Amino acid sequence: METSASCLCGSVKFDIELSNSEPEMAACHCSMCRKWLGGPMLAIDNGMLKNITGESFITRYSSSEWAQRGFCNKCGTSLFYYLVPAEQYHFPVGLLDSELQFKFSHQIFIDEKPDYYFFGNETQNMTGAEVFAHFENEGNS
Ligand SMILES: [Zn+2]
Ligand SMILES: [Zn+2]
Repeated sequence: METSASCLCGSVKFDIELSNSEPEMAACHCSMCRKWLGGPMLAIDNGMLKNITGESFITRYSSSEWAQRGFCNKCGTSLFYYLVPAEQYHFPVGLLDSELQFKFSHQIFIDEKPDYYFFGNETQNMTGAEVFAHFENEGNS
């Protein structure tokens, strides 16, 4: 399934190909995502970036050795989190131009979530250490 996405000013447009017919969404509570987006990142899990329009408006900021955060350099909209070793894109769900339904399946870096908010959805929750362990195991397989 493919769905279209765009930034606030419309300079950047692209399609996201979703791997499954029942797409899933996750929340990241880490302090970097919260600073980047102004709140927790609600992300589409592992979509493919396709058919980019306005590529010159996309700036990639290397936020760590293993990740890039893409944004529109005209309006500042956060466009994607790119996990370099896994070559995986994660997109903020708010970029979508349609009202697709998602299953809110998990929350990561739950140990970095501040106490002043919580989500009531039933999800699988992982701490930062559990997330890193998970990716190390994936790398070995
Ligand atoms: Zn823009
Ligand atoms: Zn995060």
